[in-house]
Order: sequence, then structure tokens, then C-alpha cells
Amino acid sequence: MANRSEYWNPKNETLTRDELRALQHIKLKRLCEWAYAKSAFHQRRWDAAKFHPDQLRTVDDLERIPFMTRGEWMEAQAEAPPFGPLLAVPPEHAVRYHTTSGTTGRTPLRVLDGMKDWEWIAEMWGYGLWGFGLRPSDVVLFAFSYGTFIGFWGAHYACEKIGCLVLSTGSATTESRVKSIIDMGVTTVCSTPTYALRMWQAAAEMGIDLARDSQVNKVIVSGEPAGSIPAVKRQLEAAWGAKVGDTAGMTEIGTIMIFECSHQPGGTHIIEDNFIEETLEYDGDRKVPYGERAERVVTSFGRGFIPLIRYRTNDLVVKIPHTACDCGRTGDIYQGGIQGRWDDMKLVRGTNVYPRAVESIVRECAAVDEFQILLTREGVIDEIYVLIELKPGREDHWTDLCARLHIDLADAHEGLRFKVEQAPPGSLPRFELKAKRLVDKRPVAEYQV
Ligand SMILES: [Zn+2]
Repeated sequence: MANRSEYWNPKNETLTRDELRALQHIKLKRLCEWAYAKSAFHQRRWDAAKFHPDQLRTVDDLERIPFMTRGEWMEAQAEAPPFGPLLAVPPEHAVRYHTTSGTTGRTPLRVLDGMKDWEWIAEMWGYGLWGFGLRPSDVVLFAFSYGTFIGFWGAHYACEKIGCLVLSTGSATTESRVKSIIDMGVTTVCSTPTYALRMWQAAAEMGIDLARDSQVNKVIVSGEPAGSIPAVKRQLEAAWGAKVGDTAGMTEIGTIMIFECSHQPGGTHIIEDNFIEETLEYDGDRKVPYGERAERVVTSFGRGFIPLIRYRTNDLVVKIPHTACDCGRTGDIYQGGIQGRWDDMKLVRGTNVYPRAVESIVRECAAVDEFQILLTREGVIDEIYVLIELKPGREDHWTDLCARLHIDLADAHEGLRFKVEQAPPGSLPRFELKAKRLVDKRPVAEYQV
């Protein structure tokens, strides 16, 4: 029967909050029983934490389950390559292999999925694409590589499921994609926000105004936090003469867990009948109320091969109630989508500071032994310090090193002035696994959301 509703799953997307919680409880219990019985990784960790799925009497008992981290996943993967003891299904039943994009140079995370998993992966994209207005008459172009990175793969299948005509442009150049958009009467384009802008620039160089010359009325973005940043969105909507809808997923999940509906409430609905999205203090276990910055911790009911339960994402989000949108969905909303990575971005006097970028500059200096980034608020002014411990015997390098760091750090941060200071030998903390080289001592209440 044709779906005439504005919802992909009219029943589940409009459950009352109590009904949602009841559904989540049933699914959580089933998931945990499965994970405990089938995945040596989960069983081992839960035994050590004295957790057993029988303890899940309500959905709130989720708090008894130990967190799962990417670090643990990677360790388990290294322990018995290629997949480690995470798999809950023997690998011979898998039909697909995917990895994280590996942009940071780290060993990629590897995942396997079966047919049932892929059915679900497409279903989740169905919530998002249908919810943003895709219909069978749409012609959808994917500006996507179709490699081992999972990216838009699930969205491709969701479009087939909806009944759209799909143009997969795996190895095409930007110019040939622009040409296809015009020639084939494409109505919807899926890409990263950055690439959507790149296509628009390429089109302009070809003498094509996409807003005027194309039939595109929807651009679905994913893969970067920028999709919900108002300034970026405005720019893209004007450039394409189309509505821009944000989505976000993770390789660890295999698909999207949040999407922007066609009412565009300035954020993304959580698909709460398929995910539990906890919003906790960063790296801690305190629940963060609506409207405050939090780290997302996700439990996914979908993937059978690798159960994902209380997984710490490091994603910075601000959850607000579903009533902030008038579409009628009862899934809560992440205001502004995924706003960034907790360990990545800091805003200092209006400039974004990414600790990894600072680290890459500091680490260029061979004389540096250890360092720390320290943020303080002095009066009303935010200050950023880089405290440096020199390697023994390199003390005479300090003057040159200090001067060079001042210049390089400012150059990489729109001229932001860093205070570079020397720390006594052995005074800064050392880390084995998970380094925390950024210390933010600014009062939290003064962060502007
Ligand atoms: Zn909505």
C-alpha cells in the first residue's frame, strides 16, 4: 500500500513518550540477551562489571550497563584481527564489509553485516529521506565514492526502497556530476556539505547556476557537523535554490540515527524506536538536562553482527524536546544536529580551536617532551595556554621554539594569540591510552549554546 503519510513509519514515529520507553525496554532486553549470549567481547566486559541482562527491569536500568568505547573496540580488534571477539554472528554469514573513513590516519574500525542488517540500515535512511520529503518521483544523485566507507550506501538502498530513480556517481568527476544533475533532471542530491558547495562552485565555473538551471529542490547532507550550522545551511540553500536537510550516522551503527524533517526545526530528530540516545556529561555518567551541551551515548537496536550498547561517541550535542518541532514526531531533537566532537573543538574568543591541530603543530618541535592546552577565563577574556615540557638537555631550544609556536599556532587559528609557557620537567600529566591534554577551566555556565 502506498504510504501517503509524511512519516516513513507512521506508528512508531508518533508513539507517546511512554509507549516509546516501553518499546525501548523490550528491544533493549532482547539486544542485551543476544549480545551476552553471542559476543565474547560483551560477555567478558559485563561479567567483569557484574552486569547481567536480567537486571534490565525498566529502560532506566540501562545505566547498569558499562560504557563501550572506541578504544576498547580497537583493542579487541587488535587482539584477534581482523574483527576481534566482538562479532555476535560467525563471519561466514556476512554479506558486507565496511570500515571507518580513516581520515585521522588511525587503523580503521572494521564492521561486518548480514542481509538483515542491511535491510535495517536502509530502513533507517528511509525515516530520514522520506521525512525530508523524498518520494518515488524523485531522481536522486549520490555524490559519493561507493568505497569501503559506509557513508551513503544505506541511503542508496533506501531510495530504491522508496522507488526513486538513483544515479550512483562513484568515480565521476565533479563536472560530470553537475552535467548529470542538469541532463537527468535530478531533484535530490546527497553529499557532504563541503562537497555540495564544491559542486556549486564547479557549476558556476561551467556557466551553470544550479539554483536557476537545475531541478534540484532537496540537498541531503551527511558526514560533517556543518549540515545544521545556520550560516552554512543558508549559503547552501541559496546556492542550490533547494532545501538542505541534515542527517548524521556512524560506521559503528552502519546508518543514520538522526535526521532533519521537512519542517526544518533547526535540528535533527532522533529515531528513538531504533536507538536510545543518552545525553551525558562528557566522559562522565551524569545525565545532562535538555538544552545543555552533552556527549551522546548510543545504544543501537539494529545491527546484529556487532551489538552497539552504551557506546561513547564523543559527539557534542544539545538535546531539546520533540515539541520544538510541529511535525508531530515524538522523537526528541538534537538542536543544530551534531555540533562537533568533544575532544576536538573549543571556541576561544570566537575562533575554533581543534586540539588535534594544536597537537600536530606542537609535535613538529622535536624538543617537546609533553604538553598541555589550558583554557582559562581571566575576567571576561578567554585565554589559551600551551604549556610545554622540554626534553632533558634541550632547554637552550626554548627561545626559538617559543617564537616559532607563537607564529605557527596563530597562523593556524585566524591569528588567535596563544600564550606559550614552559612547564617544569615532570609537572604535566602523562597518559598511556587515552590522552587528555586539553584542560578547560572556564566556567561551563558561561558557554553560549
Ligand atoms: Zn519534525
